[in-house]
Amino acid sequence: MNKKIYIAGHRGMVGSSIWRALEAKGYANLIGRTSAELDLKNQNAVVDFFQTEKPEVVIDAAARVGGIMANSSFPYQFLMENMQIQNNLIDSAFHSDVQKFIFLGSSCIYPKFAPQPLKEEYLLTAPLEPTNEWYAIAKITGVKACESIRKQYGKDYISLMPTNLYGPYDNFDLNTSHVLPAMIRKFHEAKEKNEAIGVSEPVELWGSGNPMREFLYVEDLADAVVFALENEFHDNLYNVGTGVDLTIRELAQLIQRTVGHTGEILWDVDKPDGTPRKLMDVSKMENAGWKAKVGLEEGIAKTYQWFLEHQGTFK
Ligand code: GDP
Repeated sequence: MNKKIYIAGHRGMVGSSIWRALEAKGYANLIGRTSAELDLKNQNAVVDFFQTEKPEVVIDAAARVGGIMANSSFPYQFLMENMQIQNNLIDSAFHSDVQKFIFLGSSCIYPKFAPQPLKEEYLLTAPLEPTNEWYAIAKITGVKACESIRKQYGKDYISLMPTNLYGPYDNFDLNTSHVLPAMIRKFHEAKEKNEAIGVSEPVELWGSGNPMREFLYVEDLADAVVFALENEFHDNLYNVGTGVDLTIRELAQLIQRTVGHTGEILWDVDKPDGTPRKLMDVSKMENAGWKAKVGLEEGIAKTYQWFLEHQGTFK
């Protein structure tokens, strides 16, 4: 409980959730730095930080992340900033003798047309989805960096690949967010607009509505990270998901019901669909002893509640 654990990206949706989960379990020696305090893209600053603080465990939840439009609009930043951040963290951890490193990525590292559900061994077997290949390639190099340290030096450096995440502290900015927070915001604001006359305004969503996605409540991921911290893993790469997916159209209907929106749903087919499906095979993590607990309806209800309590703070 007194191990010195550095959570990179501790102010983000994922990092803050991991921080709260560790604190709740009694871990008392957690460290974090805001991006203003420590620029993770700056190699010298990161090296200095590790030499001064000497963390024993590192959890890497720091990344430039975003939804389908953000990813395809800023390819260079998604590729380069993610590589810079993770290279600085992994290499500094390695050189300062950090024994355990938990690297987080995403299900988009797997090939676009891989068989479903996605098994860990499908990595690098076929081309990626073009809308997010920049982020995916950066994350694949992070997975491989951790794998090479494990292989060559026997250290417990592991990679957890969560499916699409959502929950408190998500990004609700409509240009850069992922689909689930975008839908919560769009349905809520359309409901508010015409509430007085009893009909909600129509909501415009992106693509065809046909792609399938799997969603994991961020507190479940935090629980998986705590599990990975407390258990020794014998392999490098583990998927973290629920093993259940639905179409974007079904997701829209579920969020519409939760929010209480009564208007029409329009689909802007000029916007990209992205990958047709990316359902995780979660058996490897289940065999290791971990399983997701929060169902999608429950997770969306909690996230909507959080949104209502914080909506004044969004752009
Ligand atoms: P992806 O999982 O990397 O493709 O990223 P997203 O979460 O951004 O998008 C998932 C799917 O939801 C894609 O098929 C999008 O076209 C679709 N989608 C529908 N409406 C929206 C929206 O308002 N925002 C976003 N980001 N995606 C949307």
